[in-house]
Amino acid sequence: MSLYDVPCAVTADLNRYLARLDEDDRRDESIDERTEELLAGDYAPFIADNLSEALGEIDIEDLAKQLADGKEAEAGATLAKLVRDYWDASARREAERQIDNELANACPRCRGRGCRHCDEDYGRDD
Ligand SMILES: [Zn+2]
Repeated sequence: MSLYDVPCAVTADLNRYLARLDEDDRRDESIDERTEELLAGDYAPFIADNLSEALGEIDIEDLAKQLADGKEAEAGATLAKLVRDYWDASARREAERQIDNELANACPRCRGRGCRHCDEDYGRDD
């Protein structure tokens, strides 16, 4: 007999807890996916406009010192890392905002997993 067949208060609590965990996992996965999509699109670190924005925001102290010391290869690596970190964080914030917004607007019965009510209540226009 599986744990799930036993109807008692403890299992009910456990099942609620597991459902909650599952939901958190799904949120995390969705955020990871969305972050990747953003980084491949408008949040791509090395688009000229994005590079320019990052340069205005990041701490370039180390970079400036490495360039001044003639460590240009090192400076290049430092720059790439700083810019990448900046856009990773930025894309993740945006992904969290989007996913939480989507979850908040998702069908309350299935939380966006897809159920017959989705089409009725939150249906497409076609
Ligand atoms: Zn639904």
